[in-house]
Amino acid sequence: MILRRVIAHFRKQQWTTIAIDFVIVIVIVIVIVVAGVFVGIQVANWDTDRQNRALDHGYLQRLHHEVVDLIDKGADAARTSEETNRHLHEAQHFLITSDGVTPALSPQHCCAIAGSHVYARGIILPPTLGELLATGRVLLIDDETLRTSIASYAQSINDIGQLRDDIQIDRLPLARRYPELISRRAEQWDQAVCQFGEMRRRDDFRNDLTDNLNRFGAYAEDVLAEQRRLQQALHAQLDRRLNIRHESTSTPGAIK
Ligand SMILES: [Zn+2]
Repeated sequence: MILRRVIAHFRKQQWTTIAIDFVIVIVIVIVIVVAGVFVGIQVANWDTDRQNRALDHGYLQRLHHEVVDLIDKGADAARTSEETNRHLHEAQHFLITSDGVTPALSPQHCCAIAGSHVYARGIILPPTLGELLATGRVLLIDDETLRTSIASYAQSINDIGQLRDDIQIDRLPLARRYPELISRRAEQWDQAVCQFGEMRRRDDFRNDLTDNLNRFGAYAEDVLAEQRRLQQALHAQLDRRLNIRHESTSTPGAIK
């Protein structure tokens, strides 16, 4: 329509009107170009947002899988460390008291004493969590609480790893220091044989046992149990974010 108007004005040689028509055409072209660029940018942004959301979801699914796996695999280690810690306390109580009430010590107590310098369980940062932080993609997660939990988890894992290293410094294998009290008859500590009666008469042994007991207590509670608490807290955050509900008891909740 505007074109027919311009042609008509040309025929009538209405130059002022032609100039106005020309300006109108230019404005219309500019508006169309700007609108096209705007729509193009919006479409590109929507596509980028969609890709980021898909990437975010994929990362969180992987992280959830890894954390659940760590929790499940850590259950035995948590149970074993709690038992060893309990046996060490029972052994120490027996060796420093003579009230006749404490039950006699068992091979399990000897195993705990012989292995009281072993703090070998891994302090593990889930691979996907490490990748999220190393690449900065943690910023793709549009959940501030979860982002904070991930950063806090990594820092706490680093801290308890340092604590485990500190606990291991100058650790004492009692069977090596006191072979006359602990004889190791196989590769595994559960085959060790202890001279409990003689241990009770040796102040030097009981002092070293107390040192190992304190180290193992810190390892069991402040390293392994703390790592487990961190895993379960992160798991709860991931379940919330991914809207996952578990029927199994191997999911967030009390430490097993
Ligand atoms: Zn879950």
